[in-house]
Amino acid sequence: MRRYDPSEIEPKWVERWEREGLYRASDDPEDGRARFYALDMFSYPSGDLHMGHAEAFSGGDVVARFAAMRGHNVLHPIGWDAFGLPAENAAIKRGKHPKEWTYANIEQQARSFRRMGMSFDWTRRLHTSDPEYYRWTQWLFLKLFERGLAYRKTAPTNWCPNDATVLANEQVINGACERCGTAVVRKDLTQWFFKITDYAQRLLDDMDELVDWPERVVTMQRNWIGRSEGAQVTFEIAETGDRVDVFTTRPDTLWGVTFFVFALEHPLVMKLAEAGGASTEAKAMLDRLQATPLTNREQAESPEGVPLGVHAVNPVNGERVPVFVAPYVLMEYGTGAVMGVPAHDQRDFGFAREHDLQIRVVVQPEGQERDAGTMTEAYNHEGVMVNSGPFDGVRSPGSIDYVIEWLQEQGKGSAAVTYRLRDWLISRQRYWGAPIPIVHCPEHGEVAVPDEDLPVVLPVDVDFRPGGESPLARHEGFVDVACPACGKPAKRDTDTMDTFVDSSWYYFRYCSPGDEERAFDPDEVARWMPVSQYTGGVEHAILHLLYSRFFTKVLYDMGLVGFTEPFPRLMNQGQVIYGGASMSKSKGNIVEPMPLVERWGADTMRLMMLFAGPFEDEIDWKLIAPDHERRPGVSAWLGRVHAAVRDAAERAAADPEELRRLTHRTIEGVTEDLERFRFNVAISKLQVLSNEMRAVLDSGGGAREAATALALMLAPMAPFAAEELWREVLGNPESVHRSAWPSFDLALAAVERVTMVVQVDGKVRDRIEVDAATSEEACRELALASENARRAIGGREIGKVIVRAPRLVNVVTAR
Ligand SMILES: [Zn+2]
Ligand SMILES: [Zn+2]
Repeated sequence: MRRYDPSEIEPKWVERWEREGLYRASDDPEDGRARFYALDMFSYPSGDLHMGHAEAFSGGDVVARFAAMRGHNVLHPIGWDAFGLPAENAAIKRGKHPKEWTYANIEQQARSFRRMGMSFDWTRRLHTSDPEYYRWTQWLFLKLFERGLAYRKTAPTNWCPNDATVLANEQVINGACERCGTAVVRKDLTQWFFKITDYAQRLLDDMDELVDWPERVVTMQRNWIGRSEGAQVTFEIAETGDRVDVFTTRPDTLWGVTFFVFALEHPLVMKLAEAGGASTEAKAMLDRLQATPLTNREQAESPEGVPLGVHAVNPVNGERVPVFVAPYVLMEYGTGAVMGVPAHDQRDFGFAREHDLQIRVVVQPEGQERDAGTMTEAYNHEGVMVNSGPFDGVRSPGSIDYVIEWLQEQGKGSAAVTYRLRDWLISRQRYWGAPIPIVHCPEHGEVAVPDEDLPVVLPVDVDFRPGGESPLARHEGFVDVACPACGKPAKRDTDTMDTFVDSSWYYFRYCSPGDEERAFDPDEVARWMPVSQYTGGVEHAILHLLYSRFFTKVLYDMGLVGFTEPFPRLMNQGQVIYGGASMSKSKGNIVEPMPLVERWGADTMRLMMLFAGPFEDEIDWKLIAPDHERRPGVSAWLGRVHAAVRDAAERAAADPEELRRLTHRTIEGVTEDLERFRFNVAISKLQVLSNEMRAVLDSGGGAREAATALALMLAPMAPFAAEELWREVLGNPESVHRSAWPSFDLALAAVERVTMVVQVDGKVRDRIEVDAATSEEACRELALASENARRAIGGREIGKVIVRAPRLVNVVTAR
């Protein structure tokens, strides 16, 4: 082939690679190669591949191919996260069955991945919506159920009125549904939860094992788990004798408590309202807030509240303070009751001003006097404790530990830790998900479906339109079942699982995807895992990554895996945006990758993604490809590479010394760049090399060594062009993707050295090898340090030193 024509070479190689089984991972325990598990976050089949896929998988594929060329046995699998709401919503809109829609999209994406030349081991392909897969999702649910880690409770939930389903806390972004943006409301429902809170501390402690994670992702998880240290203190209700615990991070402000507040859902609220003669007012507020629910944020900022007519006794000083119920206190955090310290907490301050409550300063900034009557905001900085009984004059917040010690001695409280993390709500009132494998028996309650009866198959003939209850509840053939414990009539659970349950363990399944006896083969998992490199979007910083870490710890506790972190190394690619904004239908700025692949080739699409900038940075497509009619720069470059390698292959002469040096320097640099995801820098180094090759060839020199190295180094990033050059042009029988990554000669790669002449009074006294880039100052020092030069100088004084860096230094002595 004379000219570089991707439409001719790319489809040809897709077929040959598949025929040769080039990317199949070897499970042979005799295979002595080190194993490398290159994992990409699997795809959601919402249509054909989009730009985000093209970006993420271009990078992930470099990782896998580079590892293979460096001699690893590489596992690089692909699958589909195929259950979930978007499929269901799209199917409803199009009048199709979610299954039909989902599997059609999977086939489309699979074709596109093949066309892109991704180095997947297709024999391990999985779909979470296949019964062969979700059977094990259900099995894992039951393992958690057995261990008390899956349980049901009635709780206020985040309800999306548009999607007619509950959402996990993690799926509520600024009070709105993560999927559709509708404002989330509160609704009391009986739901299934996973007890991730049991693992809160381990999820924090094990962060030490995340050897290479983006710092911001670690920080986001740490904040999400939200560990806080403080004290638990017990207040007594004066009128009823009820004892109520509160958690505070500021026990040093206990003497500043002037009121006490319950969350709306606290079980004591109506009882206390009755005792205080305030049930009418309290009930009116509860009813009103139930009818017009607030988002979490509105709730947190609301100054509303109703006094319950009873009093709480402050254990540190015996004071009786008024008790309220108010929406700004959240049942989900702490104990659902708080002590009000308006002088030192901003939300308490706002509430006190609204309700004309006393404000008492108990921490004074040093040398100043805060006056409760004129304060305009709470004071929450350092100071000295005042009005605080035994602690007057002690510096705060250093005093917190002493106060806790004192509370413990007095039997008034104890040290305590709380977490912001809540249990993971996993049940959904929607159709397209894995059924929860539980049977409800009037006599036996929640009964696990026996292992041999798994999977609980999701029926196809279901009216799946959302209606507030689970669509499966309308399917009698599904619902009515005999209790596994007693055989009497019972009902199946009709909720389905959150799709994040499906994606919390898929990377284990890839290790032994065909296993019909187990979720995964522990021996294979031990050989392949933990994952060597995980690549995917930062949008999964909390949900998927936190849940996967949790699942792995549970499996560790079950003795099924020997490690506690599944992904010690994580790389987030940047988003692909357009004109400074994210791509979206409503903005009409979506660019589809596959038509561009058809037009310019998959290698060009890959190089455009990899060359656009640092891999973790955003790519603005409008900036890198403003005009799709114009041939992209990287495509033209591939054409020049093709021509240069072809010319070099026909030339018998050896590469000149300078080109050899550049070749070896490039190998050294590109190797390091690929190790560090600096794909853009690697490509520019290859461009320098190909330009130099061209110059040498044009002046009649040879460049075969350079051409060979270039084809090898191009292989992870432009796999088609590299293969064509390697096999068809350079005549190698084996695939470039099975060839060894080029090594470099240290001496050749080293920076150029020159000989520096040292003269004393014009006579040559020494010759020193120096780096060509040595500075004038360094040359002078080297010359004056030379033994030979110093002998020639003898005891004479030095007049001046003339430096012509890096080749000459002349020392002139004073006479
Ligand atoms: Zn929604
Ligand atoms: Zn029963």
